Amino acid sequence: MIKDIVIVGGGTAGWMTATYLKASFGDRLAVTLVESKAVSTIGVGEATFSTVRNFFRHLGLSEPEWMPRCHASYKLAIRFENWREKGHHFYHPFERPRVVDGFSLADWWLHEEPSDRFDQDCSVLAALCEAKRSPRRLGGALFEEVFEAGEAQDMARAVPKGLGTQFPYAYHFDATLLAQFLSEYGVERGVRHIQDDVLDVRLDQDGFVSEVLTKDHGPLAGDLFVDCTGFRGLLLNKALGVPFVSYQESLPNDSAVALRVPVDVESRGMRPCTTATAQDAGWIWTIPLLDRIGTGYVYSSAYTTPEEAERTLRAFVGPEAADLPANHIKMRIGRSAESWVKNCVAIGLSSGFVEPLESTGIFFIQNAVEQLVKRFPSTRDDESLRRSYNRQVGDVMDGVREFLFLHYYAAARSDNAYWRDAKTRAMPDGLAERLEQWRCALPDENSVFPRFHGFEPYSYTAMILGLGGLDVRPLPVLGRLDATAARREFQRVRDQASALIDRLPSQHEYLIHQAAGF
Ligand code: FAD
Repeated sequence: MIKDIVIVGGGTAGWMTATYLKASFGDRLAVTLVESKAVSTIGVGEATFSTVRNFFRHLGLSEPEWMPRCHASYKLAIRFENWREKGHHFYHPFERPRVVDGFSLADWWLHEEPSDRFDQDCSVLAALCEAKRSPRRLGGALFEEVFEAGEAQDMARAVPKGLGTQFPYAYHFDATLLAQFLSEYGVERGVRHIQDDVLDVRLDQDGFVSEVLTKDHGPLAGDLFVDCTGFRGLLLNKALGVPFVSYQESLPNDSAVALRVPVDVESRGMRPCTTATAQDAGWIWTIPLLDRIGTGYVYSSAYTTPEEAERTLRAFVGPEAADLPANHIKMRIGRSAESWVKNCVAIGLSSGFVEPLESTGIFFIQNAVEQLVKRFPSTRDDESLRRSYNRQVGDVMDGVREFLFLHYYAAARSDNAYWRDAKTRAMPDGLAERLEQWRCALPDENSVFPRFHGFEPYSYTAMILGLGGLDVRPLPVLGRLDATAARREFQRVRDQASALIDRLPSQHEYLIHQAAGF
């Protein structure tokens, strides 16, 4: 029987895993987490997916309990700047297009072209981002009552059935504060927390991990080990020798440089979205938190140097970046061939990672830990559960790789070698055929990557129509249909957006009230 779990690593992955397991199994499972004081965590990872609210819900945490402690803010969309051409921007909102007369409003948009802004014409969230609004009213109610019903349900995924709209936001937070917060939560509920260095990983005669040897606490034995040691992959890759499958051929960004920039958030305002600004050799993220901005340049070392990347980032931020220490990070892009081998499961960067363009790192962690709980074995050698876990976790990352590849391939921008090469790079299998389908009919559930990977067809549509580099044609049939209802819906989106902007507080005002207990 599996009774003792040992987690090695105390970054976001380690603490999300420990707390989720405790919330799921309580005292029926003993959880030990060992983390090194000497090896620091990656120190980035501040934007999330809208499904992350299910993680906090599973832990029984409400927003006022955790958000102020982690300097968190809301994320309603990703704002892409300069991907089509310099000066252009568009949003990828957490909002599915409405359906009119059996066709997505996106299809009607392509046919009618009410303006050149798909995001503004089809989504209210894009307008809330522009106006820096909070998705909640003072006091806490969500901006649309329709979501309140969804809030009360126990949803497996953050998609309230039948409401036609995805849950409207995710969060940004300070990753270090979140790990601290979760460690308190975990320790209060019985997680044994050890601060020590793991020096060796010992295997038994069957090749299973029997114990990890620590510097000051000696050997720690367990039935199941979770490798949360980040890019090091100390247990899975190093001790068990599981190979790493690189995605570098299709996603060449392999480096990042990050800054934590204290700013006067109140006077500057807080746009409730992550911003991804295209650069000559990658892109810069901007994440607004309650007391500072998290920012960083993700780039390919084949196209620029760390020094040049740091200069570009500092110039982008301006005088506020002067004298701030920069964190240079080498990224391992791809995934372990299998994330669960013998009695060792890798979660977090040790399992796999793609560049943070759609903020999928924490989503991968959440997915992995949910799948681990779902397939939790009775004995340590249940091969079929292990295999089905590996298939699911691998599919999620392969699907995300394809979606990210599309960001570069479909971007109209091709003003230098970096952006031109993105159009001729090796494509993930199957994408060429899917692109052909999307040229004559926008993505739907039958034409996107066929297995769960977190992104729905509407996300592909938002990117294709925003990036502007892929020729897509309206459905000819719409020319034979009456467009009156669709035109009315475009007007309704505009009216709803402006009414919400009038009614909702700014995100900054809301978060200050939330921190003060309303
Ligand atoms: P780490 O944070 O590296 O933690 C590793 C842990 O292992 C540490 O506690 C360390 O002490 C411990 N350890 C290592 N060796 C030993 C040893 N020998 N003994 C004991 N302990 C040991 N994800 C998102 O969802 N959104 C984002 O916006 C985002 N942005 C990112 C930007 C960049 C540039 C990068 C590189 C990643 C980003 N990610 C993002 C991914 C996200 O940061 C990670 O998924 C997340 O932080 C999990 O990291 P981790 O816990 O796996 O590893």
